[in-house]
This record gives sequence, structure tokens and C-alpha cells, in this order.
Amino acid sequence: MMSQHPTALIPSSSNPHDITALCQANVLTPKGVLKSTTLQMQNGVIKSLGADLPANHFLRSEDVHTVQLGEDYLITPALIDLQLNGAFGVDFSAGNIPEMQKVLDTLPQYGVTGILPTLVTAPLMEMVSATNAIEELIHFNTRATGAKVLGIHLEGPFLNPDKRGTHPKEHMLPIDLDALHLLLSPHVKMVTYAPELDENFEMLDALREKGLLVFAGHSKAARGHLRAAINQGLKGVTHLYNALESYTHRQVGTSLHALLEKELWASFIADGYHVHPEVLELTFKMKSIDKLVLVSDAMSLAGLKEGETARFAGTVVQNKEGRAINTEGHLAGSTQLLPDMIRNLLNWEICSLEDAFQMATHNPAHLLGVDDHRGSLKEGYVADLLLWHQPTMKLLATWIGGELRWCDEGLFRQASQGIVLNPEAIENKGSALNPPSQYKAHLTL
Ligand SMILES: [Zn+2]
Repeated sequence: MMSQHPTALIPSSSNPHDITALCQANVLTPKGVLKSTTLQMQNGVIKSLGADLPANHFLRSEDVHTVQLGEDYLITPALIDLQLNGAFGVDFSAGNIPEMQKVLDTLPQYGVTGILPTLVTAPLMEMVSATNAIEELIHFNTRATGAKVLGIHLEGPFLNPDKRGTHPKEHMLPIDLDALHLLLSPHVKMVTYAPELDENFEMLDALREKGLLVFAGHSKAARGHLRAAINQGLKGVTHLYNALESYTHRQVGTSLHALLEKELWASFIADGYHVHPEVLELTFKMKSIDKLVLVSDAMSLAGLKEGETARFAGTVVQNKEGRAINTEGHLAGSTQLLPDMIRNLLNWEICSLEDAFQMATHNPAHLLGVDDHRGSLKEGYVADLLLWHQPTMKLLATWIGGELRWCDEGLFRQASQGIVLNPEAIENKGSALNPPSQYKAHLTL
């Protein structure tokens, strides 16, 4: 189904000055979807966006590879995942460098080109060695052929044991700056913690001083404390509703507080199991799209088959009907990656295509402070982009830094007018359009 070595029709790094022109497609830009638009890439960045240019526009020294698309094709920025615990049988917490590299090399098949490997609560020194392993991975991963590690996300160990979810209680720690400093390797970018443990915001201050992104999660912070934390630099909440104190019409809780605090960001999981789609619909009405970020929270079972098992957060987790279920019957992260979740949002018809992509491209890039060159299709931006068959939202191809890094076998063929798509290759690709996920109300996390 997939091709490890994308077609030689598309330029390779041997000639970075070559131009790839993706012609006459729908192109998702910050201004919305532009129709019949041509996107050109050169030297790893987007060179231009607009109507087709005449052939004599190009310099003679430039080789132009023209890919003829059409109204059924959509080009979007590539996806950025701020919370990825692992995938394809690999758990980032295990800190195995070749295995982690395998995840980075496989993610382009799923349209994901930027991630924060996420470490859940584990014995402190195990977490320290996993951060060191990821630092090494970043150091040696200079090939830039796969997804890029944009930082590390520590989800724990400073969490509220009452909202532990699948995190092992025995390894959760109270606020401890010495333990924190052991964990803060140079590429840690994001920390999820329970602010109610941090009475005087000692830890929050230490994290903010280092310029880190701090989110509340696995928490039951009260409104007043949450608001004080926001004033002190707390940026958002992690997987809104999951492992955050819930609420009803008679009882308030951290989830409701997070909805009401307008300036607070919220990440959420849209696999159809962690949050009811109608609750997400409500969320989109309550919170600005500019404050929401889609995360997969995927773990090692993502990309594996039904029935397979893996170790996660110190326990055995099994893929049951697309859900990652631990021995206690709880959801333990998701088995879906971001493109599945984008399709879910579109299937459920609870947000626009523009909003769905903004929450998985520009918004995470903005939170990481890289939105001046990543996460949008604009001139001069890094050419990390995806080609979709728009009627089915099948993902067809992924470019990283202007180079084709993954496409379906036989997708492109040479024709007299340039490179064209082979419709049979699109037809034969197994349907990528998920049936809408059924929400399982009896499972809680
Ligand atoms: Zn969590």
C-alpha cells in the first residue's frame, strides 16, 4: 500500500533548486480554501501561491516539476501533534532510539510531520532516561526525512492522584523542584501538571522562567486557583474533559472552569471515545477556535491491529474495537492519529474543514512559537504539506521541506502535460474515511 521510496518523478534533494508546482488544486491557506490555485515549492519552502504562472516565468536553470491536480484535490499544511505517547508498537517512554526513529519515519504516512513525544508518569529515573534518549534522538535525527521532534512533553509525574486516569499512582510526585530539574532536559517544551498541588506556584514560576508551555491536566483545580494560575502563566488544559474534574448542571468542576476561562487554551481528543461529539460541539460554541488544539494522545497501539497488546504506563493495554483499554477497563490513550480525528470532526459535522485543520496545524505551531515559519501555507514557510482526495479525505501524499516523503504506490504518472495523478491508485487505496466512531459512554477517563 505504501511506497518507501516515492516516485522518482518528483524532485529529490540532489537538486534543491528544482521547483515543484502543484497545480490547480484547492489550497488551504490562513485566508481559507483558495480554489484552482498553484503552490510552488523550492529550496524547502513555499515559493508562491496563486494562479498558474506562464511557463517562461521560470529561470532556465530551474527544473520545474509540474503536478496537474484539479478540483477534487486539497492541499493543507502537515499536521503537528503536541501529545503523542507512541505509535506502531513503540512507546516513547521506553526510550529506545532506533524504535523512536521508526515512529518518526512512519508518521509521514499519516500526515504528521511535527510532534512532541509525550512521557507519562513513570519512576522518576525512568522518565529522566527517556528524556535523555529523546535528546539523543533529536541530536542524531538530522536526516529530516521523517517527522520532526519539536520538543518533549512531560505529562507527569506532578499530577493529582485523584485524577490519575491510567497513570500509576505510586510514581506520582508532589511538587518537587529538584525532581523537576532532573527532568528538564534542553528540549522539554511542554509540561502538564496539576496546579492545585502547587499552592504558591513555585513550580509554575520555575517552568515559566524557562519559557515552557504549562498546561493543567489530571487535575481538579478549583476556579479561583485556576484563575490565579492563569495570571501566573498557566497556558491551557490538557485533554479537556478527560482526567479533569467533570461537572453536571448542579456541580461545577475544572472542565467547566476551563470552558469559562476564555484566555485558557484547551487540547482535546477527537477519537469518538474520549469525549462525546456533542460535547465537542458545545466546546466549539463556548471556546474560540483560536484557543483549541487537537491532540491524538495516541499510544503504541496506534497503527496496530485489533486485539494486539502493548505495555503503557506500567500496565498492559489492548486494542479493543479501536480503543486502547487497560486491565481495569479504562481508556489508556487513543489508537487514532490526527488525520483520523480530522475525519471524525468532519463526519460529525461539528466544525468546518478550515477550523479542523487550524486546530491541528497553525494552533500547535503557535503554541510552540514556530508559527512564523510552520503550520500554515504561506510564501516563505517550510513546505511541509499534505495532498488529500477531498471527496473522501483520503490522504495521498506528504511533503516535508519541499520533498515528497510519502505517497501511495503508483499515485503519480508522467503525461504530456506534466505529472498527473493516477485515479486507479486513489480508488484502490483502502477507504480512509472512518465510519463515525460510536461513543461508548460507559468508559471513563
Ligand atoms: Zn493524560
